[in-house]
Amino acid sequence: MAQIDGLPPLREVIATHGLAAKKSLGQNFLLDLNLTSRIARIPGDLSEADVLEIGPGPGGLTRGLLANGARRVLAIEKDARCLPALAEIAEAYPGRLTVLEGDALEIDPLQHLTAPIHVVANLPYNVGTELLIRWLTPHDWPPYWQSLTLMFQREVAERIVAQPGTKAYGRLAVLAQWKAEARIALSLPPEAFTPPPKVSSAVVHLTPRPAPAHPADPVMMERVVAKAFNQRRKMLRAALKGMHPEIEAKLEEAGIKPTARAETLSIAQFAALARTLG
Ligand code: SAM
Repeated sequence: MAQIDGLPPLREVIATHGLAAKKSLGQNFLLDLNLTSRIARIPGDLSEADVLEIGPGPGGLTRGLLANGARRVLAIEKDARCLPALAEIAEAYPGRLTVLEGDALEIDPLQHLTAPIHVVANLPYNVGTELLIRWLTPHDWPPYWQSLTLMFQREVAERIVAQPGTKAYGRLAVLAQWKAEARIALSLPPEAFTPPPKVSSAVVHLTPRPAPAHPADPVMMERVVAKAFNQRRKMLRAALKGMHPEIEAKLEEAGIKPTARAETLSIAQFAALARTLG
C-alpha cells in the first residue's frame, strides 16, 4: 500500500488510542488510506475549498482529504476517544484541521467555515439520512455547500438516485433530485470497513442545482410527496384525500391520472401538483 503521509497506519492509531469500534456510534472505520484518498478526490480539486467532515473517527478520510490538498478541514466528532488521534493529524498539517467535539445534529458548523464549502463524510448510519435531509432543505437555495460526498448503506444510496417506476423511488429520491444532481460515485463491500457492517455501502455525490429542477413551493412540495408516498400502494386520489376537497379535479388539472400511484410520478409531475394545490 502506498504511503499518503508520514503518520502511522490506522491499525496502529486505533491500537495506540484504544479506539475499539462502538456500534452505538455507527463506527465502521475505513483503514485503507488509498481508498479514503479515492473518496477524497470525488468532489474534485479542494485546494481552494473548506471541507466539512462529519464523524472523522480515527481520521482515515480526514487524512485522505488533507493529503489530497484540501485547503482546510473542519471535522465534527461525537466520540471524545478519537480526539488525541485527530490532534496528531492536526499537528502534521498545521493550520489545516480543526476538530469540534460534539453531535453533528446539534452543532452549526457555518461560523467555522469559509466558502467555497464541500461536505465529505463516511456518515454514522444512524444520523446519515437526517443530515442529508437537513442539507437539502435549508431556508435558502442554493445552499452553502458546493457538493456532498457521502457514504451510505447501499440501499439508502439507491433510494437517493432512484428513478420513477422503481421500488427504491420515494421521498428521498424526489427531494434529492429536485434540489440536486445525484449519482453513486463508488460502491464498497462490507470488507472495506473495520469491523465490516452487515450490508454493502456506496458513496453518493450530490451537486446542488442553481434552483430546484421545477418550480414549486418547497413546503407544499414536501407535503404532497410525503403524503403520496405514505400510502404508496394506493391510487393518488385515495392517498392524497384530505389535501383538497376536489383532489381528483386537482390531479387532472396537473395532468396526472387520479388512478396513478406515487411511484410512477416524475419530479416534474410532483412539482406541477404542488403548484396546482399551492
Ligand atoms: N470517518 C471515519 C472513517 O471513515 O473511518 C469514521 C466513520 S464511522 C462510519 C462514523 C463516525 O461518526 C464515528 O467516528 C462516530 O463516532 C461518529 N459519529 C457518530 N454519531 C455522530 C454524531 N451525531 N455527530 C458526530 N459524529 C458522530
